[in-house]
Amino acid sequence: TYILAIESSCDDTACAILENDSVLSNVVASQKIHEQYGGVVPELASRAHQSNIIPVVDEALKQAKIDKSQLSAIAFTKGPGLMGSLLVGTSFAKSLALSLNIPLLDVHHMHGHILAHFIDDGQEKPDYPFLALTISGGHTQIVQVNSSSDLIVLGTTQDDAVGEAFDKSGKILGLGYPAGPQIDRLAQLGNPRKFDFPVPKAPGLNYSFSGFKTAVLYFLQRETKKNQDFVKENLEDICASIQYTLIKILFKKLEKAVAQTGIKQVAIGGGVSANSGIRKHLKSMESKGWKTFIPPFEYTTDNAAMIGIAGYFKFLENDFAGLDTTASPRIHM
Ligand code: ATP
Ligand code: FE
Repeated sequence: TYILAIESSCDDTACAILENDSVLSNVVASQKIHEQYGGVVPELASRAHQSNIIPVVDEALKQAKIDKSQLSAIAFTKGPGLMGSLLVGTSFAKSLALSLNIPLLDVHHMHGHILAHFIDDGQEKPDYPFLALTISGGHTQIVQVNSSSDLIVLGTTQDDAVGEAFDKSGKILGLGYPAGPQIDRLAQLGNPRKFDFPVPKAPGLNYSFSGFKTAVLYFLQRETKKNQDFVKENLEDICASIQYTLIKILFKKLEKAVAQTGIKQVAIGGGVSANSGIRKHLKSMESKGWKTFIPPFEYTTDNAAMIGIAGYFKFLENDFAGLDTTASPRIHM
C-alpha cells in the first residue's frame, strides 16, 4: 500500500509517501516569513501553503521514486489547526484523490502526533493500551491509547499549551520565535535549581500554564529593576530553571495518570517532545518500572509522515472519508 499524506494545519507545508508503515519520503517546507512577527500570521501561512504545496508534493513523489498512478490513497490533516491553512491541504487532497480515483483518509492532527510512534524505524513499538503525553504548540494532553482509533483524553490544558509556555517565556527573554529549541539549548548550559518558578494548580489530570508565563514576566521585571543586566548575566540559568519547572509540571500529572490507570507504557509526542530535558526525564522514569517511547526527532514537530501512518491505520480498517469531508479547525479527539 502506498499512501501520500499532506499536513498543512499550521505553518509547515508537508508531504510524505509511505509504503505500509515505512516512510519513503518526508518533505517539510517550513515558513520563515513568520519569524519577523514573533508568531504565526494565519493569512500569510495560508498564502505560503498555496505556493508551497505543489513543489512539496512533487518533491515527495520524486524522493520516494513513486508515480502518482501507484498511489493507493491520499491522507490529509482535517484538523485541528488554522482554517486557512487546513483548507489548502484539504482541497488539494480532495482534488488529488478525485482525479486519481482513489480513497481519501481524513486524519486528526493529534492522532498523527501520537501514532507517529508506529512508523517503522527499527525501534520497539508500544503495545496497546499505552499513555501518550502530547505536548506541542497548541496542545498539552494525556491520552489513553487503546487502539489506533480508540484514543481517550484523560487530561488537557485549561489555558496555554506547554509549547506556548516555552515560546512566551522565551519571548519575554528576548529570544526569537519559536523559542522552545533555544531554551532547550541554553538550558543545557545552566543550573536548573537557580531560580524557583511556581507550579500552577489544575484539577485532576489537567494542566494550566497561563500563570507560569505571568510568573516569569513578573520575576524578570522585578530582577531587572534591581539589575539591568539580569537577563544577560543569567540567561542560561533562567532557561534551565524555566525548563526544569515545565518538566516538573508535566510529569506531576503524568505520574498521577500512570498511578490511576496502572498503565506503565508511556510515550511522548508533539513538537515539545523534541526537548532534550523532557526526553532525558522520561527515560529516567524507566527506573520506576515505566516502559518509555520517544519518537525520532523528525517526527516530533509537524510533518506528514505522522499523518501517513495514521491514515494507513484507517486504510486497513476501510475507514475512508467522503468527498464532502471538510477542514475542521476545532475538531475534538
Ligand atoms: P499542535 O500540534 O498542537 O497543533 P503545532 O503543530 O503548532 O501545534 P508542533 O509543531 O507540534 O506544534 O510543535 C511546535 C512547538 O514545539 C513550539 O512551541 C516549539 O517551541 C516547540 N519545540 C520544538 N522544539 C522544542 C524543544 N527542543 N524544546 C522545547 N520546545 C520545543
Ligand atoms: Fe502539531
